[in-house]
Amino acid sequence: MEMSIAENLKKIRSVVEKTASVHACRAKDVEIIAVSKTQSPERIQEALEAGQRVFGENRVQEAQTRWINLRPIYSDLMLHLIGPLQTNKVKEAVKLFDVIQTLDREKLAHALSEEMHKQNRVLPCFIQINTGEEEQKAGVAPKDAAAFLKLCRETYKLNITGLMCIPPVDAPPALHFALLKKMAAEFELPHLSMGMSSDFDKAIALGATHIRIGTAIFGERI
Ligand SMILES: *Cc1c(COP(=O)(O)O)cnc(C)c1O
Repeated sequence: MEMSIAENLKKIRSVVEKTASVHACRAKDVEIIAVSKTQSPERIQEALEAGQRVFGENRVQEAQTRWINLRPIYSDLMLHLIGPLQTNKVKEAVKLFDVIQTLDREKLAHALSEEMHKQNRVLPCFIQINTGEEEQKAGVAPKDAAAFLKLCRETYKLNITGLMCIPPVDAPPALHFALLKKMAAEFELPHLSMGMSSDFDKAIALGATHIRIGTAIFGERI
């Protein structure tokens, strides 16, 4: 039998707690981001009613139609952008989201910097790292990360608080999580967004502070 969203959330919270305690980190330091892309308003309502307030979306426009009317009702919502951001969508993204996880190039850093200044909304940003150095995937190559971080901070005055990665589908994710953790430690960044439905326990074991869970909360995407 299919479990309800409330049951799924409860189960994930308990896995987070168990995993955190085994690895001597605190469950409350691990933020569960419910990835609501492509989900129906009814299913999102169910998650809200189960107390979930932190959500991730990968498209600006889709997120707008979904969240603009819910924002005034749930004042404690936190929306993370976890998909690629085009510079022509930066204005809407800065208006809607609370965290941008996919900063990965100078042009975007420049556009975000200008728009945040204009809107007087300084959002925390994570730099996306292409840990697998995959050609088709977004993200900064690990070897370029230090210089890019410096550029974001010094030239564009962005508030960079963490790193994010999406490991290659066909590789053991732990190696990528470990690399991301090492980089964040070296750069003294507190936040690590890594781990999805199938591997979030491994990510927590390696220090994830933000896990991005879609399928395990909402079921298969339609
Ligand atoms: C869709 C998506 C997720 C959620 O994936 P699941 O396997 O459904 O948990 C996480 N991160 C990103 C960047 C995504 O696009």
